[in-house]
Amino acid sequence: MRNLNLGELADLLRTFLLGGRFLRATPHYSRDQMREWQWQKIVPLVRHAFYNVEFYHELYHNVGFEPGDLKCWDDFHRLPYVGKDQVIANYPRRIVARGYKLDDLIVSRSSGSSGKPLDIAYDPRAMTIYTLAGLRLYGMGFAYRPWHRQLYVYTSPYPLNSLFGLYPLTFVSTLAPVCDIVAAIRTKKPDLLVCYPSLLKQIEQSLAPQDLAGIHLRAISVNSEMSTQAERDYLAQRFGCPVLDDYSSEELTRIAAQCHHGVYHLFEDINYIEVLPDPARCDGVGEIIGTNLHNYAMPMIRYEQNDLGAVTETSCACGWKFRALTSLQGRKNDCFIMPSGREISSGFLLDATYEILLKYRTEVKDFCLIQETANCITLEIVPGPGWSDVVRSAIAARFDSFFDHDIQFVTREVTECTKTKSGKRNPIISHVGQPIPGAGFSLSAHHKGC
Ligand SMILES: [Zn+2]
Repeated sequence: MRNLNLGELADLLRTFLLGGRFLRATPHYSRDQMREWQWQKIVPLVRHAFYNVEFYHELYHNVGFEPGDLKCWDDFHRLPYVGKDQVIANYPRRIVARGYKLDDLIVSRSSGSSGKPLDIAYDPRAMTIYTLAGLRLYGMGFAYRPWHRQLYVYTSPYPLNSLFGLYPLTFVSTLAPVCDIVAAIRTKKPDLLVCYPSLLKQIEQSLAPQDLAGIHLRAISVNSEMSTQAERDYLAQRFGCPVLDDYSSEELTRIAAQCHHGVYHLFEDINYIEVLPDPARCDGVGEIIGTNLHNYAMPMIRYEQNDLGAVTETSCACGWKFRALTSLQGRKNDCFIMPSGREISSGFLLDATYEILLKYRTEVKDFCLIQETANCITLEIVPGPGWSDVVRSAIAARFDSFFDHDIQFVTREVTECTKTKSGKRNPIISHVGQPIPGAGFSLSAHHKGC
């Protein structure tokens, strides 16, 4: 992703100083006000996509839709969904809107599917709003002031290092050795640390108690990987500051983030989020579908995020009225399927494995739980000081109680756990096909999270 140029930075500053007020006002809108605000964004967006984006024109034309048909939310909810493969197949010519030049856009590249990269092109004005929404996101954890320093540990640099000296940011690659990241924390003395939760754990493990006491972070923001509340609570206690998770994607940008009360608030002024009810469930959990309200360069309308969650009304003590995202279950392929057909959710598996880590804090340095086949599950463990046959047996006995009796559970000692192709740690991996409602389940090989 390229850096913002001077003109775009000036626009960002102008928006920050003069505008951007909606980002402060919208979290306090009533539900009806918010729905109306979103509707006023969606109607022109759909019209623009129909007339200026070849992909959407064909998609909507094929179902007999024309922009004049969009009169109420039900009309919008009848529009076809858009999947990642369609975005990849139509990029850039058929999905970047007419009138936009790729060179003028900010393009984010991430891992897609079947080895093909997923490129998302952002209108610089939309990027301005996302940047300001990012500042607001960090402000949910602590009083984020313009002079506070951020250490940003990620796969690629952020498009700006500061806003004319305000909100200074130092980038460090995720691939840097942990000792280098720790050194950056010591020398840069950041107020805010942004990183993957697995990396935060490595940082925590590499620091002695006296080192931790010498680090004065005000907040830590984790993202991209799954982490549990128990994991974040533990790290918050160790670092002495809030550790808050946010849920974003390259396609939809800011989707939801935790406030300091732990509630994941949807960013309803960035995306219109729907949850498709699953008739097989009664807990409101379904597939998350998002419409980005700002990116006219490459519209994302009713995009299948490929995660599961539920949305509920909330009256949070933080004062925000944005609805809450609950039961976020990460990539839907993360669950394990027992030979009996019983499904064990990724959230449960994460908590189960983290329980082991908490209990055997020194003996187990890292782990990865892999369902290799329908009948075989492996727990990779990076052993630490004190690792023994007794610990191994205790862990095996604990996991045996979670899985069906005909599962062969194996613990394997490794020096480094399996990672995804993009280098991310994914603590739960399934190589077994996922269930298709009404069709049993497929046993074809399936790798997720890459
Ligand atoms: Zn809240």
